[in-house]
Amino acid sequence: MRHFEGKELVIASHNAGKIREIGQLLAPFGVSVKSAGELGLAEPEETEDSFAGNARIKAHAAARASGLPALSDDSGLSVDALNGSPGVYTADWAETPNGRDFKMAMKKVWDNCEKIAAPEPRTARFHCVLCLAWPDGHDEIFDGRVEGHLVWPLRGEHGFGFDPMFQPVGETETFGEMDPERKHGMSHRADAFAKLVDGCFAGS
Ligand code: IMP
Repeated sequence: MRHFEGKELVIASHNAGKIREIGQLLAPFGVSVKSAGELGLAEPEETEDSFAGNARIKAHAAARASGLPALSDDSGLSVDALNGSPGVYTADWAETPNGRDFKMAMKKVWDNCEKIAAPEPRTARFHCVLCLAWPDGHDEIFDGRVEGHLVWPLRGEHGFGFDPMFQPVGETETFGEMDPERKHGMSHRADAFAKLVDGCFAGS
């Protein structure tokens, strides 16, 4: 496992919600982070059918283009009753001609469960795969997840994406209702980050 020795890291994402969360999670390590958007890096096409494959595409593209180590996050929601959908296509389900609409995407997920009369609770999990890639082509991959179930109607205004429809196991609030600090303590991203920190940052 390669240790991260630098002072600067590119966050290979154009998603403001993810950039904010990753910045907060890395703050204690004194690493200065820049986003791919700030550096004017192009967004590569995510052509793989796995979270790890797409995380690799994004991190390597940003590391090559910037000459700095780059960290990507490929994440999504997998619903058991929908055979794991939307999965790696989670962001695509929100696409409209006028940008992403997550309320519409969450309704689509719930309606698809209704159509097949999926029994409740409608179990689901968030996945987060992090890839830390260096400009020389080396990378490390970390896989995180959090189990829970879907709720309807939507609850809460915090977080981003599908947070208002996801209630983690053992909790009474959705990620959308939860204090962000609390979400950061238990989320799929926190799980993957704990593994990343353990592997690449601990002791620095
Ligand atoms: P991608 O990894 O950029 O392909 O997109 C992942 C999509 O999954 C995001 O656009 C969000 O809709 C959703 N997602 C990932 N992580 C979270 C989260 O922590 N809360 C809510 N939605 C999330």
